[in-house]
Amino acid sequence: MSDCSFEVAIVGGGIMGAATAYNLAKAGVSVGLFEKGRVGGEQSSRNWGAVRQQERDPAELPLMLESVRLWTGLEEELGTGLDWYQRGHLSLAYDEKTGAEFEKWIPIGREHGLDTRMLSSKEVHDLLPHYRDSDCRGGLFTSSDGCAEPEKVAVAFARAASARGAEIFELTSVSSIESQNGDACALWTEQGRMRANTIVVTTGAWTSRLLKPLGIRHPSLWIRGNVARTNVLPIEIRKLVAWGKTAYRQRSDGRVNIAAARRAFHDLTTDSFVYGPAFLPVARDYWGRFRFSVGRHMVRSLMGEFADFTTHRTLDPTPEWKVLEQAAKLFAQEYPEAGPIRLERGWAGFMDFMPDNLPVVGEIPGHRGLFMAAGFSGAGFGMGPVIGRIMADLIQGNPTGHDLRPFSPNRFSKRIRTRESEHA
Ligand SMILES: Cc1cc2nc3c(=O)[nH]c(=O)nc-3n(C[C@H](O)[C@H](O)[C@H](O)COP(=O)(O)OP(=O)(O)OC[C@H]3O[C@@H](n4cnc5c(N)ncnc54)[C@H](O)[C@@H]3O)c2cc1C
Repeated sequence: MSDCSFEVAIVGGGIMGAATAYNLAKAGVSVGLFEKGRVGGEQSSRNWGAVRQQERDPAELPLMLESVRLWTGLEEELGTGLDWYQRGHLSLAYDEKTGAEFEKWIPIGREHGLDTRMLSSKEVHDLLPHYRDSDCRGGLFTSSDGCAEPEKVAVAFARAASARGAEIFELTSVSSIESQNGDACALWTEQGRMRANTIVVTTGAWTSRLLKPLGIRHPSLWIRGNVARTNVLPIEIRKLVAWGKTAYRQRSDGRVNIAAARRAFHDLTTDSFVYGPAFLPVARDYWGRFRFSVGRHMVRSLMGEFADFTTHRTLDPTPEWKVLEQAAKLFAQEYPEAGPIRLERGWAGFMDFMPDNLPVVGEIPGHRGLFMAAGFSGAGFGMGPVIGRIMADLIQGNPTGHDLRPFSPNRFSKRIRTRESEHA
């Protein structure tokens, strides 16, 4: 196939691309979505499934409030089960200092009408009857938060988009974006050139690489998150997301997804040196939570493996088994009635972090018709439904109902000189 044309062409079939395709197709817009691997194969199927308003940046809260409203009707809207549960998000405190930190967020939530409150240790134990940790001093709880099964959601959006006429191209990477006189006009894909009036970039961890040749700086770094899944446990944990000594969420089949809370890994690549300086102002806040590693990924980036979009159809980093086993041990101590815990599988995913922890959403200044939604900084799953709705409205020139200035694509701008941008 070559020189096909769409009103809107979307690059990247994670939750953001698929939800945008769905909302556009529903509005009768012709859409093509191009995914280098399988829909939802990267972050969107690998996350913990938390749909969280609690402890969000105030700029994101109005979007998350709308997203939660959309989540509550999403199974009906998409016509399929997503294992959506609205049973709260709980951050546990083991010392008074953490509890006091949590309390500072309550007025922010309240200003937006949220039901966030501090629970006493007794209330935590009432909420989680099998929880047996006597160190717990209480927790921050938002009952309207929820969770869903990540493996189901991007795929459900893509199927529903396809049923409304969107064309979904899997195993079709986009190598570059073509523009004429500043207007985005076509994609170069593995299936040839695709013309489009509007192009949307929802490429998650790959975004800086795709935009760099256009002279667009997107200073995002990869942070590796790790998750493990247990055997079916003979206890019920209310199907909420809890963050304590470990982070966990019970699935509808009784298995529990476990992760090491507040621990993250940065595998150094050449990008670490290009974009790392943009993170220096916030480095102190995260120091101690991060572990850096120099190894395979540095070699791969030096060999140029991440510079094309076909070598890694699906980014599939190796999980930190030791850390996951430690997390499972802590979980077992807190839930002795769960019995012996076996980790049936584990996986990892690269999250695309921005220096200010906020995503980039909107039309890229100086590039008419080129839109992006990326850099969700480890918290984009919950936002997927609202971002899909907002992107579709932005593209059609409709009011979005939200202040998107904090997410402006040029807030880090410092034009990169490339051969392509010099000739643009
Ligand atoms: C371990 C882990 C835990 C997380 N936990 C949570 C959580 O509990 N709650 C929450 O809200 N968020 C969480 N997140 C973050 C969340 O998963 C992401 O923010 C969200 O999924 C981002 O969606 P996306 O569509 O932007 O990116 P992705 O899902 O990464 O999709 C981008 C897609 O673009 C494709 N692509 C890239 N380049 C090209 C190209 N050139 N051509 C074609 N296709 C291309 C990729 O193959 C990929 O499928 C977590 C993430 C991880 C990894």
